Amino acid sequence: MSETDCLFCKIVKGEVPAEIVREGDRTIAFRDINPQAPTHVLVVPRDHHPDVASAAVADSGLIDEIVREAHEVAVADNVADSGYRLVFNTGGNGGQTVFHLHGHLLGGRGLNWPPG
Ligand code: 5GP
Ligand code: ZN
Repeated sequence: MSETDCLFCKIVKGEVPAEIVREGDRTIAFRDINPQAPTHVLVVPRDHHPDVASAAVADSGLIDEIVREAHEVAVADNVADSGYRLVFNTGGNGGQTVFHLHGHLLGGRGLNWPPG
């Protein structure tokens, strides 16, 4: 499934360049264009799902895979031991601006709680 005007579908298809750090059968991970931490990687499914909740309903197991892939990126970036945050912004108040499911992996510095 893909949506022609979706930015992350275009990154998945290679139509928009991105710094890809890991590729799985059903996911890809690439560095955020506006990083908020030394490690800031977006893990996205290859298939288009608008957000984490709808993906969890539509495709059992996909979210687990995104979490596993995010952890592997954290290991590769050497932030797994120091700790990291995995965030799924959802909807307007949640700060979601791209409506193709993505987990933000943030690490490499102390992160404030609660986030702004
Ligand atoms: P959201 O606000 O939807 O949770 O996160 C969207 C993220 O996508 C933002 O952190 C933003 O910096 C990132 N982003 C937006 N456009 C691009 C792009 O063209 N390439 C990459 N690599 N990241 C992008
Ligand atoms: Zn998409």
